[in-house]
Amino acid sequence: MLRNDQLDQWDRENFFHPSTHMGQHERGESANRVITGGSGVYIEDRNGNRLLDGFAGLYCVNVGYGRQEIADAIAAQAKELSYYHAYVGHGTEASITLAKMVMDRMPEHMSKVYFGLGGSDANETNIKLVWYYNNILGRPEKKKIISRWRGYHGSGLMTGSLTGLTPFHNKFDLPLSQVLHTETPSYFRRPDLDMSEADFVTHCADKLEEMIAAEGADTIAAFIGEPMLGTGGIVPPPAGYWNAIQAVLDKHDILLIADEVVTGFGRLGTMTGSAHYGLKPDIITIAKGLTSAYAPLSGSVISDKVWQVMVKGSDEMGPIGHGWTYSAHPIGAAAGVANLKLVDDLGLVENAGTVGAYLNEKMKDAVADHPQVGDVRGEGMLCAVEFVDDKASRKFYDPSRKIGPAVSAAVLKQGVIGRAMPQGDILGFAPPLCLTREEADKIVDATRAAITEVFG
Ligand code: PLP
Repeated sequence: MLRNDQLDQWDRENFFHPSTHMGQHERGESANRVITGGSGVYIEDRNGNRLLDGFAGLYCVNVGYGRQEIADAIAAQAKELSYYHAYVGHGTEASITLAKMVMDRMPEHMSKVYFGLGGSDANETNIKLVWYYNNILGRPEKKKIISRWRGYHGSGLMTGSLTGLTPFHNKFDLPLSQVLHTETPSYFRRPDLDMSEADFVTHCADKLEEMIAAEGADTIAAFIGEPMLGTGGIVPPPAGYWNAIQAVLDKHDILLIADEVVTGFGRLGTMTGSAHYGLKPDIITIAKGLTSAYAPLSGSVISDKVWQVMVKGSDEMGPIGHGWTYSAHPIGAAAGVANLKLVDDLGLVENAGTVGAYLNEKMKDAVADHPQVGDVRGEGMLCAVEFVDDKASRKFYDPSRKIGPAVSAAVLKQGVIGRAMPQGDILGFAPPLCLTREEADKIVDATRAAITEVFG
Protein backbone atom coordinates (compact mmCIF):
# COMPACT_ATOMS: atom_id res chain seq x y z
CA MET A 1 0.00 0.00 0.00
CA LEU A 2 1.30 3.45 -0.90
CA ARG A 3 2.33 5.82 1.88
CA ASN A 4 0.09 8.87 2.38
CA ASP A 5 2.90 11.32 1.51
CA GLN A 6 3.58 9.43 -1.73
CA LEU A 7 -0.08 9.56 -2.73
CA ASP A 8 -0.22 13.25 -1.86
CA GLN A 9 2.79 13.98 -4.06
CA TRP A 10 1.48 11.97 -7.03
CA ASP A 11 -1.92 13.59 -6.65
CA ARG A 12 -0.54 17.11 -6.77
CA GLU A 13 1.92 16.37 -9.58
CA ASN A 14 -0.37 14.45 -11.92
CA PHE A 15 -4.07 14.71 -11.20
CA PHE A 16 -6.16 17.51 -12.76
CA HIS A 17 -9.26 17.52 -10.56
CA PRO A 18 -12.66 18.84 -11.66
CA SER A 19 -14.06 21.95 -9.93
CA THR A 20 -10.81 22.51 -8.05
CA HIS A 21 -8.56 25.56 -7.64
CA MET A 22 -5.75 24.32 -9.88
CA GLY A 23 -2.89 26.40 -8.50
CA GLN A 24 -3.75 25.89 -4.84
CA HIS A 25 -4.05 22.17 -5.34
CA GLU A 26 -0.81 21.82 -7.25
CA ARG A 27 1.07 23.95 -4.70
CA GLY A 28 -0.32 21.98 -1.79
CA GLU A 29 -2.21 24.98 -0.40
CA SER A 30 -5.60 23.29 -0.33
CA ALA A 31 -6.59 20.06 1.36
CA ASN A 32 -7.05 16.84 -0.53
CA ARG A 33 -8.85 13.81 0.77
CA VAL A 34 -8.35 10.19 -0.24
CA ILE A 35 -11.56 8.23 0.17
CA THR A 36 -11.15 4.56 0.94
CA GLY A 37 -14.55 3.13 1.71
CA GLY A 38 -18.20 3.67 2.43
CA SER A 39 -21.15 2.02 4.07
CA GLY A 40 -24.73 3.28 4.23
CA VAL A 41 -24.59 7.08 4.47
CA TYR A 42 -20.99 7.12 5.73
CA ILE A 43 -17.69 7.36 3.88
CA GLU A 44 -14.21 6.83 5.28
CA ASP A 45 -10.95 8.45 4.30
CA ARG A 46 -7.37 7.29 4.51
CA ASN A 47 -6.77 9.16 7.73
CA GLY A 48 -9.45 7.13 9.47
CA ASN A 49 -12.14 9.83 9.43
CA ARG A 50 -15.70 8.56 9.16
CA LEU A 51 -18.01 11.19 7.70
CA LEU A 52 -21.77 11.28 7.25
CA ASP A 53 -22.12 12.11 3.56
CA GLY A 54 -24.96 14.61 3.56
CA PHE A 55 -24.56 15.13 -0.18
CA ALA A 56 -24.51 11.48 -1.36
CA GLY A 57 -21.32 12.17 -3.32
CA LEU A 58 -22.78 14.63 -5.82
CA TYR A 59 -26.42 13.84 -5.08
CA CYS A 60 -25.96 10.49 -6.74
CA VAL A 61 -25.33 7.64 -4.26
CA ASN A 62 -29.06 7.34 -3.65
CA VAL A 63 -29.07 3.82 -2.20
CA GLY A 64 -26.06 4.56 0.01
CA TYR A 65 -22.56 3.12 -0.08
CA GLY A 66 -21.42 -0.50 0.05
CA ARG A 67 -24.48 -2.24 -1.38
CA GLN A 68 -23.42 -5.82 -1.96
CA GLU A 69 -26.28 -6.53 -4.39
CA ILE A 70 -25.04 -3.92 -6.85
CA ALA A 71 -21.38 -4.89 -6.48
CA ASP A 72 -22.34 -8.53 -7.15
CA ALA A 73 -24.36 -7.58 -10.24
CA ILE A 74 -21.43 -5.57 -11.60
CA ALA A 75 -18.98 -8.41 -10.94
CA ALA A 76 -21.26 -11.01 -12.53
CA GLN A 77 -21.73 -8.84 -15.62
CA ALA A 78 -17.99 -8.17 -15.91
CA LYS A 79 -17.28 -11.89 -15.80
CA GLU A 80 -19.99 -12.84 -18.25
CA LEU A 81 -19.59 -10.00 -20.76
CA SER A 82 -17.74 -6.85 -19.82
CA TYR A 83 -18.59 -4.98 -22.99
CA TYR A 84 -20.40 -4.99 -26.23
CA HIS A 85 -21.72 -1.93 -28.07
CA ALA A 86 -25.34 -1.00 -28.60
CA TYR A 87 -25.03 0.18 -32.22
CA VAL A 88 -27.19 -1.27 -35.00
CA GLY A 89 -29.65 -2.94 -32.67
CA HIS A 90 -27.21 -4.68 -30.33
CA GLY A 91 -28.00 -5.06 -26.66
CA THR A 92 -27.52 -7.22 -23.61
CA GLU A 93 -30.01 -8.72 -21.21
CA ALA A 94 -28.99 -6.02 -18.73
CA SER A 95 -29.44 -3.06 -21.10
CA ILE A 96 -32.78 -4.30 -22.46
CA THR A 97 -34.06 -5.06 -18.95
CA LEU A 98 -32.94 -1.65 -17.72
CA ALA A 99 -34.66 0.11 -20.63
CA LYS A 100 -37.90 -1.65 -19.64
CA MET A 101 -37.42 -0.78 -15.95
CA VAL A 102 -36.74 2.87 -16.77
CA MET A 103 -39.75 3.23 -19.04
CA ASP A 104 -41.98 1.58 -16.42
CA ARG A 105 -40.96 4.39 -14.05
CA MET A 106 -41.37 7.31 -16.43
CA PRO A 107 -44.62 9.20 -17.21
CA GLU A 108 -47.06 7.34 -19.48
CA HIS A 109 -46.47 9.46 -22.57
CA MET A 110 -42.74 8.68 -22.74
CA SER A 111 -41.66 6.13 -25.34
CA LYS A 112 -37.93 5.23 -25.44
CA VAL A 113 -34.67 5.67 -23.57
CA TYR A 114 -31.26 6.33 -25.15
CA PHE A 115 -28.43 5.48 -22.73
CA GLY A 116 -25.36 7.67 -22.26
CA LEU A 117 -22.77 7.97 -19.52
CA GLY A 118 -23.45 11.10 -17.48
CA GLY A 119 -25.86 14.00 -17.21
CA SER A 120 -23.81 16.30 -19.43
CA ASP A 121 -23.66 13.96 -22.40
CA ALA A 122 -27.35 13.09 -22.00
CA ASN A 123 -28.24 16.77 -22.28
CA GLU A 124 -25.92 17.16 -25.29
CA THR A 125 -27.87 14.29 -26.87
CA ASN A 126 -31.16 15.97 -25.99
CA ILE A 127 -30.27 19.20 -27.75
CA LYS A 128 -29.12 17.33 -30.85
CA LEU A 129 -32.42 15.43 -30.86
CA VAL A 130 -34.40 18.65 -30.54
CA TRP A 131 -32.54 20.12 -33.52
CA TYR A 132 -33.01 16.93 -35.53
CA TYR A 133 -36.72 16.96 -34.63
CA ASN A 134 -37.22 20.48 -35.94
CA ASN A 135 -35.20 19.81 -39.08
CA ILE A 136 -37.28 16.73 -39.84
CA LEU A 137 -40.42 18.83 -39.28
CA GLY A 138 -39.07 21.36 -41.82
CA ARG A 139 -38.48 24.12 -39.24
CA PRO A 140 -34.75 24.81 -39.61
CA GLU A 141 -35.02 28.21 -37.88
CA LYS A 142 -36.55 26.79 -34.68
CA LYS A 143 -33.32 26.02 -32.83
CA LYS A 144 -32.70 28.26 -29.81
CA ILE A 145 -32.86 26.77 -26.34
CA ILE A 146 -34.08 28.67 -23.29
CA SER A 147 -32.60 27.76 -19.91
CA ARG A 148 -32.75 29.59 -16.56
CA TRP A 149 -30.15 31.59 -14.70
CA ARG A 150 -28.92 29.33 -11.88
CA GLY A 151 -30.00 26.22 -13.78
CA TYR A 152 -27.40 23.44 -14.00
CA HIS A 153 -27.28 21.11 -16.98
CA GLY A 154 -23.65 20.02 -17.20
CA SER A 155 -20.33 21.42 -18.30
CA GLY A 156 -19.91 20.43 -21.95
CA LEU A 157 -20.02 22.98 -24.76
CA MET A 158 -23.79 23.10 -25.12
CA THR A 159 -24.58 21.96 -21.61
CA GLY A 160 -22.11 24.40 -20.05
CA SER A 161 -23.92 27.05 -22.09
CA LEU A 162 -27.29 25.90 -20.77
CA THR A 163 -25.97 26.02 -17.22
CA GLY A 164 -26.86 29.45 -15.91
CA LEU A 165 -23.89 29.92 -13.57
CA THR A 166 -21.21 32.29 -14.82
CA PRO A 167 -18.12 30.29 -13.66
CA PHE A 168 -19.15 27.72 -16.29
CA HIS A 169 -19.06 30.42 -19.01
CA ASN A 170 -16.27 32.83 -18.12
CA LYS A 171 -13.11 32.39 -20.20
CA PHE A 172 -14.60 29.37 -21.95
CA ASP A 173 -16.23 31.45 -24.72
CA LEU A 174 -19.65 30.28 -23.53
CA PRO A 175 -22.60 30.45 -23.68
CA LEU A 176 -22.99 29.44 -27.33
CA SER A 177 -25.18 31.81 -29.34
CA GLN A 178 -28.18 29.43 -29.55
CA VAL A 179 -28.71 29.58 -25.78
CA LEU A 180 -30.81 32.13 -23.86
CA HIS A 181 -31.35 32.41 -20.09
CA THR A 182 -34.53 33.51 -18.41
CA GLU A 183 -35.59 34.31 -14.83
CA THR A 184 -34.51 32.10 -11.89
CA PRO A 185 -37.62 30.75 -10.15
CA SER A 186 -36.40 31.73 -6.69
CA TYR A 187 -39.16 33.38 -4.68
CA PHE A 188 -36.66 34.15 -1.93
CA ARG A 189 -34.65 36.20 -4.45
CA ARG A 190 -37.67 37.85 -6.11
CA PRO A 191 -36.97 41.25 -7.64
CA ASP A 192 -39.41 43.03 -5.33
CA LEU A 193 -39.98 41.84 -1.76
CA ASP A 194 -43.62 43.01 -1.91
CA MET A 195 -44.42 40.53 -4.68
CA SER A 196 -46.74 37.69 -3.64
CA GLU A 197 -45.77 34.16 -4.67
CA ALA A 198 -48.54 34.20 -7.30
CA ASP A 199 -47.33 37.55 -8.62
CA PHE A 200 -43.79 36.20 -8.84
CA VAL A 201 -44.99 33.21 -10.88
CA THR A 202 -46.77 35.61 -13.25
CA HIS A 203 -43.57 37.65 -13.43
CA CYS A 204 -41.52 34.54 -14.43
CA ALA A 205 -44.09 33.53 -17.07
CA ASP A 206 -44.25 37.12 -18.39
CA LYS A 207 -40.45 37.30 -18.66
CA LEU A 208 -40.48 34.07 -20.65
CA GLU A 209 -43.24 35.43 -22.91
CA GLU A 210 -41.23 38.63 -23.44
CA MET A 211 -38.13 36.66 -24.42
CA ILE A 212 -40.11 34.50 -26.85
CA ALA A 213 -41.75 37.58 -28.37
CA ALA A 214 -38.39 39.35 -28.74
CA GLU A 215 -36.69 36.36 -30.37
CA GLY A 216 -39.70 35.05 -32.33
CA ALA A 217 -41.40 31.79 -31.32
CA ASP A 218 -40.39 30.27 -34.65
CA THR A 219 -36.73 30.50 -33.53
CA ILE A 220 -37.18 28.80 -30.13
CA ALA A 221 -36.96 25.01 -30.06
CA ALA A 222 -36.98 24.06 -26.39
CA PHE A 223 -36.97 25.10 -22.77
CA ILE A 224 -34.80 23.12 -20.35
CA GLY A 225 -35.23 23.15 -16.59
CA GLU A 226 -34.66 21.06 -13.50
CA PRO A 227 -38.05 20.42 -11.88
CA MET A 228 -36.41 21.85 -8.74
CA LEU A 229 -33.19 23.86 -9.05
CA GLY A 230 -30.26 21.86 -7.67
CA THR A 231 -26.72 23.14 -8.08
CA GLY A 232 -28.03 26.71 -8.45
CA GLY A 233 -28.91 26.61 -4.75
CA ILE A 234 -31.55 23.91 -4.07
CA VAL A 235 -34.62 26.03 -4.73
CA PRO A 236 -38.13 24.54 -4.92
CA PRO A 237 -40.21 26.34 -7.55
CA PRO A 238 -42.90 28.73 -6.34
CA ALA A 239 -46.40 27.20 -6.27
CA GLY A 240 -47.93 27.15 -9.74
CA TYR A 241 -44.65 27.90 -11.52
CA TRP A 242 -44.56 24.83 -13.75
CA ASN A 243 -48.22 25.16 -14.77
CA ALA A 244 -47.59 28.73 -15.84
CA ILE A 245 -44.38 27.88 -17.73
CA GLN A 246 -45.88 24.82 -19.40
CA ALA A 247 -48.81 26.93 -20.65
CA VAL A 248 -46.42 29.42 -22.30
CA LEU A 249 -44.39 26.63 -23.91
CA ASP A 250 -47.49 24.83 -25.22
CA LYS A 251 -48.83 28.07 -26.68
CA HIS A 252 -45.64 28.57 -28.73
CA ASP A 253 -44.98 24.92 -29.63
CA ILE A 254 -41.75 24.86 -27.64
CA LEU A 255 -40.52 21.49 -26.35
CA LEU A 256 -39.92 20.98 -22.64
CA ILE A 257 -36.81 19.11 -21.48
CA ALA A 258 -37.09 18.16 -17.81
CA ASP A 259 -33.57 17.70 -16.50
CA GLU A 260 -34.17 15.03 -13.85
CA VAL A 261 -30.52 14.14 -13.30
CA VAL A 262 -30.99 14.98 -9.61
CA THR A 263 -34.75 14.51 -9.17
CA GLY A 264 -35.18 11.25 -11.12
CA PHE A 265 -35.74 7.99 -9.23
CA GLY A 266 -37.03 9.30 -5.97
CA ARG A 267 -35.15 12.29 -4.58
CA LEU A 268 -38.32 14.38 -4.17
CA GLY A 269 -40.26 11.47 -2.68
CA THR A 270 -41.82 10.71 -6.06
CA MET A 271 -40.37 8.63 -8.89
CA THR A 272 -39.85 11.74 -11.03
CA GLY A 273 -39.86 15.47 -10.46
CA SER A 274 -42.16 15.69 -13.47
CA ALA A 275 -44.78 13.63 -11.63
CA HIS A 276 -44.10 15.67 -8.48
CA TYR A 277 -44.91 19.01 -10.11
CA GLY A 278 -47.29 17.79 -12.83
CA LEU A 279 -45.02 18.56 -15.81
CA LYS A 280 -45.55 17.03 -19.23
CA PRO A 281 -42.03 16.99 -20.65
CA ASP A 282 -41.11 16.00 -24.20
CA ILE A 283 -37.69 14.74 -23.10
CA ILE A 284 -36.44 13.75 -19.64
CA THR A 285 -32.76 13.60 -18.67
CA ILE A 286 -31.80 10.91 -16.16
CA ALA A 287 -28.43 9.96 -14.64
CA LYS A 288 -27.19 9.87 -11.01
CA GLY A 289 -30.02 7.89 -9.31
CA LEU A 290 -30.24 5.52 -12.29
CA THR A 291 -27.27 3.54 -10.96
CA SER A 292 -26.72 5.40 -7.66
CA ALA A 293 -23.30 6.11 -9.24
CA TYR A 294 -22.11 2.51 -8.82
CA ALA A 295 -21.22 2.84 -12.51
CA PRO A 296 -21.57 5.77 -14.94
CA LEU A 297 -24.85 5.71 -16.86
CA SER A 298 -27.38 8.29 -18.01
CA GLY A 299 -30.41 8.40 -20.23
CA SER A 300 -32.39 10.59 -22.58
CA VAL A 301 -36.02 9.59 -22.26
CA ILE A 302 -38.03 10.55 -25.34
CA SER A 303 -41.77 11.14 -25.51
CA ASP A 304 -43.91 9.41 -28.08
CA LYS A 305 -44.48 12.77 -29.81
CA VAL A 306 -40.73 13.27 -30.36
CA TRP A 307 -40.11 9.59 -31.10
CA GLN A 308 -42.62 9.54 -33.97
CA VAL A 309 -40.71 12.37 -35.66
CA MET A 310 -37.39 10.61 -35.03
CA VAL A 311 -38.76 7.50 -36.74
CA LYS A 312 -39.81 9.63 -39.72
CA GLY A 313 -36.26 11.02 -39.75
CA SER A 314 -34.73 7.56 -39.94
CA ASP A 315 -37.16 6.52 -42.66
CA GLU A 316 -36.02 9.54 -44.67
CA MET A 317 -32.32 9.71 -43.76
CA GLY A 318 -31.28 6.25 -42.59
CA PRO A 319 -29.84 5.31 -39.18
CA ILE A 320 -29.39 8.21 -36.79
CA GLY A 321 -25.85 9.64 -36.81
CA HIS A 322 -25.47 9.67 -33.06
CA GLY A 323 -23.92 7.23 -30.61
CA TRP A 324 -21.21 6.74 -27.98
CA THR A 325 -18.92 3.72 -27.75
CA TYR A 326 -20.13 3.24 -24.18
CA SER A 327 -23.88 3.84 -24.74
CA ALA A 328 -25.77 1.28 -22.64
CA HIS A 329 -22.51 -0.16 -21.29
CA PRO A 330 -23.38 -3.61 -19.89
CA ILE A 331 -21.69 -2.95 -16.54
CA GLY A 332 -23.57 0.32 -16.08
CA ALA A 333 -26.79 -1.40 -17.16
CA ALA A 334 -26.26 -4.26 -14.69
CA ALA A 335 -25.64 -1.70 -11.94
CA GLY A 336 -28.82 0.12 -12.98
CA VAL A 337 -30.98 -3.00 -12.86
CA ALA A 338 -29.70 -3.96 -9.39
CA ASN A 339 -29.97 -0.37 -8.18
CA LEU A 340 -33.57 0.23 -9.28
CA LYS A 341 -34.56 -3.09 -7.78
CA LEU A 342 -32.98 -2.05 -4.49
CA VAL A 343 -34.74 1.31 -4.58
CA ASP A 344 -38.05 -0.61 -4.81
CA ASP A 345 -37.17 -3.32 -2.29
CA LEU A 346 -36.07 -0.80 0.35
CA GLY A 347 -38.94 1.61 -0.32
CA LEU A 348 -36.48 4.44 -0.87
CA VAL A 349 -38.79 6.71 -2.84
CA GLU A 350 -41.18 6.75 0.07
CA ASN A 351 -38.34 7.12 2.56
CA ALA A 352 -37.03 10.14 0.63
CA GLY A 353 -40.46 11.73 1.06
CA THR A 354 -40.95 11.01 4.75
CA VAL A 355 -37.41 11.35 6.11
CA GLY A 356 -36.77 14.24 3.70
CA ALA A 357 -39.79 16.09 5.13
CA TYR A 358 -38.49 15.35 8.64
CA LEU A 359 -35.02 16.68 7.75
CA ASN A 360 -36.46 19.89 6.27
CA GLU A 361 -38.78 20.46 9.21
CA LYS A 362 -36.05 19.85 11.80
CA MET A 363 -33.64 22.09 9.92
CA LYS A 364 -36.18 24.92 9.91
CA ASP A 365 -36.87 24.49 13.63
CA ALA A 366 -33.15 24.45 14.43
CA VAL A 367 -31.74 27.33 12.40
CA ALA A 368 -34.40 29.47 10.67
CA ASP A 369 -34.51 32.00 13.54
CA HIS A 370 -30.79 32.72 13.42
CA PRO A 371 -30.18 36.35 12.32
CA GLN A 372 -27.76 35.25 9.58
CA VAL A 373 -30.08 32.61 8.13
CA GLY A 374 -32.20 34.13 5.37
CA ASP A 375 -33.94 31.02 4.14
CA VAL A 376 -34.28 27.32 4.94
CA ARG A 377 -35.87 25.41 2.10
CA GLY A 378 -36.12 22.09 0.38
CA GLU A 379 -38.33 19.24 -0.59
CA GLY A 380 -37.84 15.49 -0.34
CA MET A 381 -34.21 14.63 0.26
CA LEU A 382 -32.95 18.09 -0.70
CA CYS A 383 -32.43 20.81 1.87
CA ALA A 384 -30.60 24.14 1.85
CA VAL A 385 -29.78 26.96 4.25
CA GLU A 386 -29.07 30.37 2.70
CA PHE A 387 -27.04 32.90 4.69
CA VAL A 388 -27.54 36.66 4.44
CA ASP A 389 -25.65 39.67 5.70
CA ASP A 390 -28.92 41.36 6.58
CA LYS A 391 -32.08 39.37 7.17
CA ALA A 392 -34.66 42.07 6.48
CA SER A 393 -33.21 43.21 3.13
CA ARG A 394 -31.81 39.76 2.20
CA LYS A 395 -28.50 41.45 1.47
CA PHE A 396 -25.82 39.11 0.12
CA TYR A 397 -22.50 38.79 1.90
CA ASP A 398 -19.50 40.15 0.05
CA PRO A 399 -18.36 37.01 -1.87
CA SER A 400 -14.76 37.61 -0.73
CA ARG A 401 -15.86 36.64 2.81
CA LYS A 402 -16.58 33.10 1.56
CA ILE A 403 -19.29 32.52 4.14
CA GLY A 404 -20.74 29.44 2.39
CA PRO A 405 -17.40 27.60 2.31
CA ALA A 406 -16.73 28.62 5.95
CA VAL A 407 -20.01 27.09 7.10
CA SER A 408 -19.48 23.89 5.11
CA ALA A 409 -15.96 23.58 6.58
CA ALA A 410 -17.46 23.98 10.06
CA VAL A 411 -20.08 21.31 9.28
CA LEU A 412 -17.27 19.00 8.19
CA LYS A 413 -15.56 19.48 11.55
CA GLN A 414 -18.75 18.01 13.02
CA GLY A 415 -18.25 14.89 10.89
CA VAL A 416 -20.90 15.76 8.30
CA ILE A 417 -20.46 16.61 4.62
CA GLY A 418 -22.61 19.47 3.34
CA ARG A 419 -21.93 21.35 0.12
CA ALA A 420 -21.17 25.04 -0.26
CA MET A 421 -23.30 25.59 -3.36
CA PRO A 422 -21.39 27.38 -6.13
CA GLN A 423 -23.45 30.56 -6.15
CA GLY A 424 -24.36 32.61 -3.07
CA ASP A 425 -23.76 31.57 0.50
CA ILE A 426 -25.84 28.44 0.50
CA LEU A 427 -25.21 25.22 2.40
CA GLY A 428 -26.82 22.29 0.63
CA PHE A 429 -27.73 18.77 1.66
CA ALA A 430 -28.81 15.93 -0.63
CA PRO A 431 -28.25 12.78 1.44
CA PRO A 432 -28.69 9.21 0.27
CA LEU A 433 -32.37 8.32 0.08
CA CYS A 434 -31.86 5.66 2.76
CA LEU A 435 -31.19 8.32 5.42
CA THR A 436 -32.77 7.55 8.81
CA ARG A 437 -34.31 10.09 11.19
CA GLU A 438 -31.33 9.69 13.56
CA GLU A 439 -28.96 10.48 10.70
CA ALA A 440 -31.13 13.46 9.72
CA ASP A 441 -30.81 14.68 13.33
CA LYS A 442 -27.02 14.48 13.00
CA ILE A 443 -27.09 16.66 9.90
CA VAL A 444 -29.27 19.23 11.66
CA ASP A 445 -27.16 19.20 14.85
CA ALA A 446 -23.96 19.64 12.81
CA THR A 447 -25.49 22.56 10.90
CA ARG A 448 -26.59 24.29 14.09
CA ALA A 449 -23.16 23.83 15.66
CA ALA A 450 -21.43 25.08 12.49
CA ILE A 451 -23.60 28.20 12.37
CA THR A 452 -22.76 28.92 15.99
CA GLU A 453 -19.06 28.45 15.24
CA VAL A 454 -19.06 30.76 12.21
CA PHE A 455 -21.45 33.51 13.36
CA GLY A 456 -21.56 33.06 17.12
N1 PLP B 1 -28.07 18.06 -14.96
C1 PLP B 1 -28.21 18.26 -13.65
C2 PLP B 1 -29.53 18.73 -13.13
C3 PLP B 1 -27.15 18.04 -12.78
O1 PLP B 1 -27.30 18.27 -11.47
C4 PLP B 1 -25.94 17.57 -13.31
C5 PLP B 1 -24.79 17.30 -12.42
O2 PLP B 1 -24.80 17.62 -11.25
C6 PLP B 1 -25.82 17.39 -14.68
C7 PLP B 1 -26.92 17.63 -15.49
C8 PLP B 1 -24.54 16.96 -15.29
O3 PLP B 1 -24.30 15.64 -15.00
P1 PLP B 1 -22.81 15.04 -15.09
O4 PLP B 1 -22.01 15.75 -14.05
O5 PLP B 1 -23.04 13.59 -14.84
O6 PLP B 1 -22.32 15.30 -16.46
